[in-house]
Formats: sequence, C-alpha cells, structure tokens
Amino acid sequence: MDHQSLAAKVSAGTPVTPAEAAELIHTPDSEIFSLLAGANQLRRHFHGNKVKLCGIVNAKSGRCSENCSFCAQSAHHQTDCKVYPLMSEQDLVTAAKSAEQDLSATCFSFVTSGKTVHTDSELRVLTSALTEVSRETKLNRCVSLGTLNAAQIGQLKAAGLKRLHHNLETAESFFPQMCTTHSYADRVKTIKLAQEAGVEVCSGGIFGIGETSEQRLELAFALKELQVQSVPLNILHPVPGTPAAAAHRPLTPFEVLRLVATYRFILPTQDLGLFGGRERALGTLQPLMFAAGANVTLIGDYLTTKGQAPARDRQMIRELGLEIEGN
Ligand code: SF4
Repeated sequence: MDHQSLAAKVSAGTPVTPAEAAELIHTPDSEIFSLLAGANQLRRHFHGNKVKLCGIVNAKSGRCSENCSFCAQSAHHQTDCKVYPLMSEQDLVTAAKSAEQDLSATCFSFVTSGKTVHTDSELRVLTSALTEVSRETKLNRCVSLGTLNAAQIGQLKAAGLKRLHHNLETAESFFPQMCTTHSYADRVKTIKLAQEAGVEVCSGGIFGIGETSEQRLELAFALKELQVQSVPLNILHPVPGTPAAAAHRPLTPFEVLRLVATYRFILPTQDLGLFGGRERALGTLQPLMFAAGANVTLIGDYLTTKGQAPARDRQMIRELGLEIEGN
C-alpha cells in the first residue's frame, strides 16, 4: 500500500474505507516505517507540531461494583490496589494546580472508581472543585466518573466541565467478554447525554485484553461515528488478580504502532494519544508513538500504575522537534 498517497487522500477529506483500514492494521513489519510516514503526515497536517499533555488524579480508588476484566479497582478481583474514598475538594484542586505548574499539563481529569457518582455529597465535592479549578487555572477541565445521567452532567457543566472522559473500552462485539455488570449501550448513552449537553467527549479503549484486530477496527469506526473529540488508547498493563492478566498476550511494539497509526488514519482530526501502558508496550520505541500519529499523551502517573518521569516525557517530545502545547 502507498501510505503517503492514502494520507494525502485523507488530508483532502476522503475517509479511509473499512477495506483500507483492514489493510492498515495488517501492515507487514517490513512496511511499518512507510505506515508511520503516512500517519505522521496526517498528524502534521491536522495537528501541526504541537503535543498536548493530559494529567489525571485517581480521585477515588477501588471497591468498584463493576467487573471490567482488566481493572485493578474492581471489587470482583483480588488485587493490591489502594482503596480510598473521594478526595477532598482542596486535595482535588491541589492536584490540578500541580499538574498545570509542575507537569505542563493543559488538560486535567478527576477520575473516580465506581459505576457512577453515588451520592449528592460526592457530586458537590466534584462540582466545587471544578469551579475552583476554572477560577484558578487555565486547564481544560475533564472528569471520568462512570455512567452519568443528564442532571449530573448538567451540574458538572455548570461548574466548569469542558470534557467528559468515558471510554467505550472495547468493540461492542467483545464488550460482554470484558464486562457483564453493565453494557456497551450504557456507555454510549452517557457519551450521547454529554454531547446533548454541549460537553466535549474523550473516549477510547484498552487493547491486549483478548480482542481481535477486527475488533480494534470496530472500536475505531464506532468512535468515529460518535464524533468524539479525543481518543485515548491504553495498552493492558496486566495486574495480577484480574481476569485480563490471566489471559494476557502482550502486544509487540510494532503491533502497538500499527494500532496507533491505523487509528490516526481512521480518526485524522481527533486528538489521539497513547496513554496507559505506553512505556512497557513500546520500550525503546516509545518516541515513535508520535510518528505513528499521536498528538496527545498522559503525563505523570496513571490510575493504579506509575508513569515515567515527567521530565523524561518532556525531553522525549522536545528531542523529536515537537512543541508542548501551552509552553
Ligand atoms: S474500569 Fe471503571 S467501571 Fe470498570 S471496574 Fe474499573 S473502575 Fe469500575
């Protein structure tokens, strides 16, 4: 396949077809750098030379009623994950300010375990913290709180919420093998409610949990159809005690690069990033995630695992000749 001609076609506004996407995700190793050249061309065309950095805080950890197969925080799995209730408003605001000042993040998300926000008092803490972060920082405010109803989204938006993070996680056809306590349709519903409320949506998935290449494409086209603004890709970091860890087959670095590049071709205008698991999955090839089309990444620690040192991330981006947005 001529990846640069295909990138030129996509840049001119013609979307990739399912057949082209299938060819992209099966690009042989011998053509991987041609694939990256095409994806990089698209990243530069639609996103310029800038990389966006997102920060998160695990605002409430563990004891989740849901049984997502990969998740250390599910009460259904025996893991060593920390368990604590919702952080205080002050601690949430401090975490956001630190991400802006110390990590160069331009977007920040409060992330809680659990199916939803269970109490009005929890929602009050989150909305007060969002109001304070809106006042005190320039951060793009995001939350990831599980399934939400229209009233909850409305209150969060009134408090300054710009973007809701709610991953589809995996293809609809694989979802029942990943989770049985809620449905793919539940997740789509929350995304649509956010969009109806005028809130941007960040939604992606986790890979290496047993899904096929075709299901990776199925998820990409579903996200395209939903017109989400940002797509985070996570590679399973197997946590002992979770079902996904027991069935884990690690992705090779080239498989990860093929995944990112294929998503860039399918989702040329969206913010696209490789988030959780990038250090472990790509190893020394980590900088190539930007050549594969990523224009955003997560800086600092993940929810239950450590990220690489923020200074190293910034150095990696600068050494590639890229600029960190907002710096
Ligand atoms: S991914 Fe979210 S909903 Fe699923 S088990 Fe983990 S915390 Fe619960």
